[in-house]
Amino acid sequence: MKYITGGVTLKLEAGKCTGCGMCMEVCPHNVFSLESGVSGLEGRRAVIAARDRCMECGACEKNCASGALSVNKGVGCASALINSMITGGEPTCGCGGNSGCC
Ligand code: SF4
Ligand code: SF4
Repeated sequence: MKYITGGVTLKLEAGKCTGCGMCMEVCPHNVFSLESGVSGLEGRRAVIAARDRCMECGACEKNCASGALSVNKGVGCASALINSMITGGEPTCGCGGNSGCC
């Protein structure tokens, strides 16, 4: 499942990543993959392979021991869409259109 394109707050600092693979273990939507040659760094590092699948649950940030990941949990467009599915209302993240998403 994809949420609103470009509305996800997920960030990854490749230089902090150790390539442990924990984010791949805990992510319920297969957002990450491990690749070689990322940013000229040696070894395999996590990359955000499918950003728009992220539902901003925060599991990756919580389980990344090196602090390479950050995400605003429970806010933004993905959260707005999930809440609208639950409540049946129109999705709105409260940005007032400033992010160009709603
Ligand atoms: S959990 Fe953190 S350190 Fe481990 S692969 Fe993912 S981003 Fe890299
Ligand atoms: S916030 Fe959740 S869905 Fe998004 S990348 Fe992290 S673990 Fe996956």
